[in-house]
Amino acid sequence: MPLRFHNTLTRRKDLFEPLEPGRVRLYTCGPTVHDRVHIGNFRTFLFEDVLRRYLRYSGYEVTQVMNITDVDDKIIRKARAAGVPIGAFTAEFTRLFFEDAAALGIEPAEHYPRATEYVPEMVRLAMRLRDRGVTYERDGSLYFRIASFPGYGKLSGIDLGGARDGARVDSDEYEKEDPKDFVIWKAHREGEAWWDGELGPGRPGWHLECSAMAMELLGESFDIHTGGVDNVFPHHENEIAQSESATGRPFARYWLHAQHLVVGDRKMAKSVGNVLALRDLLEQGADPLAVRYLLIAAHYRSPMQFTTDALAQASAAVGRLADLHGRLRAAAGAEEVERAGEADVAAEAGLSQRAEASFREALDDDLNTPRALAVVFGFLREVHSRLDAGVPTAAAATWLVRLREWDRVLGVLRCSPAEVPQGIAALLREREEARAQRDYARSDELRKTIQERGYAVEDTPEGPRVKNLGAT
Ligand code: AMP
Ligand code: ZN
Repeated sequence: MPLRFHNTLTRRKDLFEPLEPGRVRLYTCGPTVHDRVHIGNFRTFLFEDVLRRYLRYSGYEVTQVMNITDVDDKIIRKARAAGVPIGAFTAEFTRLFFEDAAALGIEPAEHYPRATEYVPEMVRLAMRLRDRGVTYERDGSLYFRIASFPGYGKLSGIDLGGARDGARVDSDEYEKEDPKDFVIWKAHREGEAWWDGELGPGRPGWHLECSAMAMELLGESFDIHTGGVDNVFPHHENEIAQSESATGRPFARYWLHAQHLVVGDRKMAKSVGNVLALRDLLEQGADPLAVRYLLIAAHYRSPMQFTTDALAQASAAVGRLADLHGRLRAAAGAEEVERAGEADVAAEAGLSQRAEASFREALDDDLNTPRALAVVFGFLREVHSRLDAGVPTAAAATWLVRLREWDRVLGVLRCSPAEVPQGIAALLREREEARAQRDYARSDELRKTIQERGYAVEDTPEGPRVKNLGAT
């Protein structure tokens, strides 16, 4: 079955076809770095990671942009309260975000633009809108007039009926169900970060930031735009209005939104006070791979409850996969694994092919991870029983290759040190030496280099553990 995604814009499952054959351009709204990113945010980022990995698994080349929102109302407020410049304030949370993302096996995106590095592009976009006559100025700030864009509401289905012409909003986030003209350039106020330029001293609005970075790095029209459901309105609705008003072309063609991670009946959110960071779970002894498993195991369009029971079950599932991996490794000889790509062990290879077809069918159907995992566990049971019956080594090698291929999408198998390439092993040793000498700057630098080469390092009481972030 061909790949289909539920498109928030059309409200149905659409057949996926990128603008450019073989290549997918993907924009994912990234974290606002005013605090430690919580596991609710990571539910969305992991959905995007599985999306990216599955697109690559399906043979597409992917260019993914994830922005880092490093200036907005909240950041300015909190940095001021802490008495630090916003650059220093956001640098630390950005670093922690990358650290957690690596521990969760999130494949690095191709670009991580920081909003503060794209201000000239944002000013240019705002000026383009001004030239088109879809903005107006009040007290030095520039607002987008939503009544000027006939398609306003097409993403969220918001009713414009009650919108008063000229009702404005300055804050980056505002009430749902209440469409208003929104600020794209905010006049400078005492004590706030500001930039100078053609629009006068001020700073960009949050919605404008994403539009400018997306179009700068992916082009005026691109394939997929994602985020959590809370981004649909106003953030994504406003991104569409600005971008399409400026270019006269469709902005993103497929809009995918993840439902929230909830605790009890409340969404996990800083403002509710029920957030958990990855670090909190690790301190309680959780395995980051189990957290990853937990957060990808439900379908992304279903709300998901976080409970410690669910985490324990995820941990057990990861353990069962590791056991199968170990058993297959032991059963398959090393040369057999090399040859397994071509090896066809009649009936035994058939099992792997059938399971692969079902695995793809599940993920082709709007990224149905629970169904794909059910296929994996069905395979696991069958393989154990055939191994019990003493199948030939070549069959075990075929199954081992299948399991590892699936892990290019799932990312829940742990690499043993023996599977780390020589070059990475050498970097790991060097990092251990740096740590032993308490040279943490050097060890952080080495961690970065290792990560750039596709491996995440995690320090545990038993020593460093590595995880393959990449595909093959
Ligand atoms: P923020 O840092 O607030 O901009 O959020 C980063 C991403 O996390 C956005 O795509 C949000 O939609 C998403 N998000 C926020 N809270 C949750 C949650 N409880 N569950 C899933 N995704 C969330
Ligand atoms: Zn965004």
